[in-house]
Amino acid sequence: MSRVEAVLMDVDGTLFLGDTPISGASRLVERLREWGLRILFLTNNSFYSRRMLLDKMLSVIGDARLEDVLNSGLAASEYLRERRGACRVFVVGDVGLVEEMILGGHQVVGRSEDADAVVAGGTKDISYWRLVEGHRAILKGALFIATNKDHIYMTERGPMPGAGALISFLETSTRREAVLVGKPARYIGDLALRRLGLTPSEVVVVGDNEEVDMALAQNIGSKGILVLTGISRNPSSNNWLAAKNLDEVAEKLSTLL
Ligand SMILES: [Mg+2]
Repeated sequence: MSRVEAVLMDVDGTLFLGDTPISGASRLVERLREWGLRILFLTNNSFYSRRMLLDKMLSVIGDARLEDVLNSGLAASEYLRERRGACRVFVVGDVGLVEEMILGGHQVVGRSEDADAVVAGGTKDISYWRLVEGHRAILKGALFIATNKDHIYMTERGPMPGAGALISFLETSTRREAVLVGKPARYIGDLALRRLGLTPSEVVVVGDNEEVDMALAQNIGSKGILVLTGISRNPSSNNWLAAKNLDEVAEKLSTLL
């Protein structure tokens, strides 16, 4: 059995609720680092670019590098580059997703007829006409990619509709199914393992959403710790360890080292 070398750490609902750190978040990050574990912050959140996420997380994780974050926007950008090279992308999403596309060498376009791909993700600012353009681009044959399909997004003020709700709109109107690149898809899991240079038995997935984080652990064949501070409150499976809070995550993790 390989030694655990790294944690694939979820962000929303695990370390943060909206912009507010969850109690014990910085203590957990500190302890894992003391134990010599590498942490890859693996998030489906596509509102923010990696740079924006690092800014938001500074108080909890201190100075970290861009390589320490893998978000679903980057996964979408890499997926496009591997499959199609540099693309003309129509974004149904937020500014952070636009930034990831540009950093990935893609051209962000504003009209459906110019798009090779539609990348859809979470956004708090969407107009019906943007959905119409995305819809038309997909019908014209653009590759349709979903950064994630989370049904809700948990904030300090309660749950908000997640990216999955927007994706459903476009899937229903076009009768096409989006390619999912974020958790729980193997794509982002394999990307994470490649970036770390590790095998599934050398990582542990930590997250608050059973359908997303624990399903990823299952899909890549890694161990998982479900933290009950966010979306999932009653684990439906005992395939993973469950922790009531972030201090308990550290305790559970120590049993796996
Ligand atoms: Mg989460």
